[in-house]
Amino acid sequence: MTLTEKVNITTGTGWAMGPCVGNTGPVPRLGFPSLCLQDGPLGIRFADKITSFPAGITTGGTWDKDLMRLRGEAIGAENRGKGVHITLGPAMGPLGKHPAGGRNWEGFGSDPYLQGVAAYESILGIQSQGVVATAKHFIGNEQEHFRQGPGAISANIDDRALHEIYLWPFQDSVKAGVGAVMCSYNRVNNSAACQNSWLQNNILKDELGFQGFIMSDWLAQMSGVASVLAGMDMAMPGDGLTWDDRVPLLGPRLTEAVLNSSVPIDRLDDMVTRIVATWYQLGQDKNHPEPNFSSWTKNTTGNIYYGSNEGPVGIVNQHVNVMADHPTTVARKVAAEAIALLKNDKKTLPLELPMKIGVYGEDAALAPGGANVCADRGCNQGTLAVGWGSGSTDFEYLVDPLSAITKKAQSYGGKVTAILQNNATDVIAASAKKQDICLVFVNADSGEGYIQWEDVAGDRPNLTTQKGGDDLVLAVANNCDNTVVIVHSVGPIIMEKWVNKPKVRSILWAHLPGMESGNALVDVLWGSTNPSGKLPYTIGKSLADYGPYAGVLYTENASPPQQDFLDGVFIDHRHFDANKITPRYEFGYGLSYTTFSYSNLRKTKKGSFSPLPAPRPGASAKPPTYSSKLPRPDQCTFPAGFTKINRMIYPYLESADTVKVGPYPYPEGYTKKQTPSQAGGAEGGNPALWEVLAEVSVVVKNTGKVAGAEVAQLYLGFPPNAPVPFPPKQLRGFEKVFLKPGESQKVTFALTRRDLSYWDVTRQNWVIPNGNFAVMVGTSSRKILAQGSLAGDG
Ligand code: BGC
Ligand code: BGC
Repeated sequence: MTLTEKVNITTGTGWAMGPCVGNTGPVPRLGFPSLCLQDGPLGIRFADKITSFPAGITTGGTWDKDLMRLRGEAIGAENRGKGVHITLGPAMGPLGKHPAGGRNWEGFGSDPYLQGVAAYESILGIQSQGVVATAKHFIGNEQEHFRQGPGAISANIDDRALHEIYLWPFQDSVKAGVGAVMCSYNRVNNSAACQNSWLQNNILKDELGFQGFIMSDWLAQMSGVASVLAGMDMAMPGDGLTWDDRVPLLGPRLTEAVLNSSVPIDRLDDMVTRIVATWYQLGQDKNHPEPNFSSWTKNTTGNIYYGSNEGPVGIVNQHVNVMADHPTTVARKVAAEAIALLKNDKKTLPLELPMKIGVYGEDAALAPGGANVCADRGCNQGTLAVGWGSGSTDFEYLVDPLSAITKKAQSYGGKVTAILQNNATDVIAASAKKQDICLVFVNADSGEGYIQWEDVAGDRPNLTTQKGGDDLVLAVANNCDNTVVIVHSVGPIIMEKWVNKPKVRSILWAHLPGMESGNALVDVLWGSTNPSGKLPYTIGKSLADYGPYAGVLYTENASPPQQDFLDGVFIDHRHFDANKITPRYEFGYGLSYTTFSYSNLRKTKKGSFSPLPAPRPGASAKPPTYSSKLPRPDQCTFPAGFTKINRMIYPYLESADTVKVGPYPYPEGYTKKQTPSQAGGAEGGNPALWEVLAEVSVVVKNTGKVAGAEVAQLYLGFPPNAPVPFPPKQLRGFEKVFLKPGESQKVTFALTRRDLSYWDVTRQNWVIPNGNFAVMVGTSSRKILAQGSLAGDG
């Protein structure tokens, strides 16, 4: 490839300059296409005839590895069907340090292990379909206030918390072979994430052994040369510092930087190799369809380059239906399996054909303007099925709870009365008195910070129900003997005002269910699906209970704003456990219509608990070398007779005269050979970290009268007297098993060296502490039903 051909591959063509939210420059001479990068984590954004899958948080709430994989496969298949090369998900950061963080719902839950398993399964699923997955946002992108630009917040994270919490799911992602990573908007330790050489070059590419490419989040790049030297490989969407500005930081500037030697041509070769090799790795050289949809219009025909505001005109939407049977076989199943039954007094659920059913609250039904009433779902109106922002999709349809409940009731002659205005509390109170059962719907919404809805500027301002939900529940629960509260939420809410009201018999936590919302809910309400969801985060009794560092930074405290991650490895349930704070509902909690017993805990050591892993292996392959020669600047200008498309970003120089040939000094240490990390050596880090050193098994039995699934959870208590403090319980395994009444099954958990280690900041390696590990297996993080210990080596 020529220099400009290489540069073209690294740089987006500009916002809306192609069918997708990101489009790279092609190399027509060699048949290398423009790559289509498209949101997002729960389905294809800005497209029709697609499935709106349950959100990441819902998927995490299933604790079901098979469903995580299946959902990934379906998302991958739909992206491939629409011609997407690179899907911009899964999200695993934010991880959920701040319970009010606006985008937590895009990921899988506030625990690194759960987040990591879900990311791993999702990536294997997506990439099995020949679509590149993107692990995002790398890293420390825990809140939306001060999210981007020159005033972007600095997430100040210590080395141990980085490794044990925020990096953990990225490590699993690299282990899964993820093709792309997206560097985030925020700074990390005061260096822009996309310009942070330590994180990108050392941690991600050396220590974790990442072989793919790093793209910037959309305008997250704050510099040209510095970002490239720091390891960023692709600029998205190609525009520079401000939205849609067509003043690229790469493109022609990268051409110039290579010509004048401020970026070594080897580095450009590396960037291009990473991108092109990923394309081959995923088999996209063979029959990958071209994008057949437009992010910018629903019309069938239109300008091919929408952002150019001029022709050529052509077919931009072929309206290809890629849904297959995903709504019923995947979306509905995930949504139903995620629903957590938090309370069920007097066995109110499952419903047994009640004749008079009251349905209350706006969240029960579609908004009058329909499911797509606000762009990117950026408002809370009607039933909540996804959060807002780039992580949402347009709904092809949305099955709202009221329609599904009505249909079910009608099938046996039941009568549904619905009052949807949340503030009609008097009318609701009167109606509630007359029902056999009352279903009351409340919610809390949030999303990406480029949209603000009322006082929710991305992050939530508090953890309360929105739209007067608490008063609504009280109006029902003070009057209806059998009140069931259904919650649709982006994260934890404080429900102290009503949770213990005696007539609040049952609570169903339905997360963000996606397009099959109502059907999934009916499955659980009437018991065709026995609930088996477990909370993917802690629900506290107050925001304060999450600790002094759990709050979003809402007001500027410095320039740029500083968020010190002083909670270290003690977030969410780790904090509640360490400080002996009783949550309302603990991490991992969720009831069933049946009961389970645990017995026969067995532990088998499979390897030595030596403190340090075996040394990293030697390199198994050499990166390709090209000995590329620099062209002359006049070979990098627009070719003679070239027809430009208005507002398109090209790799060519306007004039060769502007290029001053170097040499320029590289940043100090740039050309110095670095010592490879001892924790590295292969994709996912040192292979020794993945060796199974112990196995734990337990027998789970369904002791009740109906079939159902249970999620057995393994927590480890690290040895006391270690050199660093540990949370009392760290999740290190989970398995979901489906059991008929009376049936039992042995469940086995494999513990890897990484699972038994902490990150030693002095030794810069994973270290197994001396002493005995407590092994705790149970039905939640606080209901341990079988325990023992694993002895260390010495
Ligand atoms: C978001 C990313 C998204 C990108 C493209 C950014 O604002 O942070 O998650 O993939 O836009 O839409
Ligand atoms: C988002 C884009 C979005 C744009 C709108 C960005 O920050 O991530 O995907 O469409 O803002 O201005």
